[in-house]
Amino acid sequence: MSINSKDYVKICPKCGSTDIHLETRIIGGYSEGSGGNFCRNCSYGVDKIVIFPEIKKSKIKEFIKEIKNKKLN
Ligand SMILES: [Zn+2]
Repeated sequence: MSINSKDYVKICPKCGSTDIHLETRIIGGYSEGSGGNFCRNCSYGVDKIVIFPEIKKSKIKEFIKEIKNKKLN
């Protein structure tokens, strides 16, 4: 089995949504290549520059489960 990058998706670490707005823009003369990304579902990343983790698509359900468990505790 080979690891295909298409199997990976950016996910919001706050709500688990994969509906991430991706935008590359140059702010103040420097480019991080990831500035301007935010979660369309919960707006995470709108007011600050955050790096959204990329996870395997097959792990999305697990990821969301973990987030929910953290919220309960
Ligand atoms: Zn979110």
